[in-house]
Amino acid sequence: MIQDVYSMTRQELCDYMAALGEKPYRGRQIFKWLYAGAETFEDMTNVSKALRTKLSEHCRMELPVVQKKQVSRDGTVKFAFLLSDGEMIESVVMSYHHGNTICISTQAGCNMGCAFCASAVGGKARDLTAGEMIGQILAAQKELGLRISNVVLMGMGEPLDNLREVLKFMEIANHEEGLHIGYRHFTLSTCGLCDKIILLAEERLPITLSVSVHSPFDSERSEMMPVNKKYPLKQLISALLVYQEKTGRRISVEYALIHGKNDTPAHAATLMKLFSRLSYHVNVIPVNQAREGFVKSGANEVKAFLDCFEKQGIPATARRELGSDISAACGQLRHELRT
Ligand code: SAH
Repeated sequence: MIQDVYSMTRQELCDYMAALGEKPYRGRQIFKWLYAGAETFEDMTNVSKALRTKLSEHCRMELPVVQKKQVSRDGTVKFAFLLSDGEMIESVVMSYHHGNTICISTQAGCNMGCAFCASAVGGKARDLTAGEMIGQILAAQKELGLRISNVVLMGMGEPLDNLREVLKFMEIANHEEGLHIGYRHFTLSTCGLCDKIILLAEERLPITLSVSVHSPFDSERSEMMPVNKKYPLKQLISALLVYQEKTGRRISVEYALIHGKNDTPAHAATLMKLFSRLSYHVNVIPVNQAREGFVKSGANEVKAFLDCFEKQGIPATARRELGSDISAACGQLRHELRT
């Protein structure tokens, strides 16, 4: 079987070298090369010629191929990447004064079915491998000539529906000889898969967990987010309490504001009641155009909604709408390119 080297942790590469009859430390050398600019096995000059040949016979070392690159008026860049089996995914790079953030995809498509999100159309084709997640960062860094310092798992797909590969991805990206990105610089966004939130809590990683809430009422949330029928709000809160107890991390609440639907003071008040036992921050996103029937709230409504929280001393901010002119904003990433 052909092994994908970008999907292997440093330990797995060492074990793999042993399985090939090589000294395990070769795994450490190869791991270091992968994140120090090597593009082929031939670049790994402290590895013997014989081993380089063996590696090219048994392993794959490929980055996703840039199929399309779009630059927004605000400087945000969206990549469409072609994967080895023909699937397409998208990633977005945003530059802030504190560094460069990449929004990566974790699945080709998505099975969660949220009514407002373009990634849900057509369902999920497959999970991405850890190497395909790493590859989005390496390819973007190479293409743009910059270093990525923050990662948000908020692109196409539901990260907790692919938890094993996501954990492996974060381990590789975090490693000091990997991409050396601290766990505090990762944000994982979920629609609320409660059993997986509890599994993630067990890992006790100091990442930020972001939860897509969008309504504090079960009936309304179920209408927009089918996941709520399986994991209603009460269960979600219990899982988040476990998460907070194990990790000590503040939760980030994502709330897409939809005009005339979920943007009233009653929604804000009920949300605060629901989250009263948690430490959290509210991140409001005026809903982006992705599907029919969802209109973003106006500036006054956004401000009034944020004020409800601020009055109670709860931190609340509106997310900057980066990249909407190139369909790179939240909810606009798509499984297939239809342009
Ligand atoms: N599956 C994960 C991560 C991907 S979506 C999740 O559901 O959290 C990243 C964020 O964008 C989520 O909060 C999602 O609800 C939000 N989102 C989806 N469509 C949107 C839209 N049209 N406008 C604004 N936010 C949207």
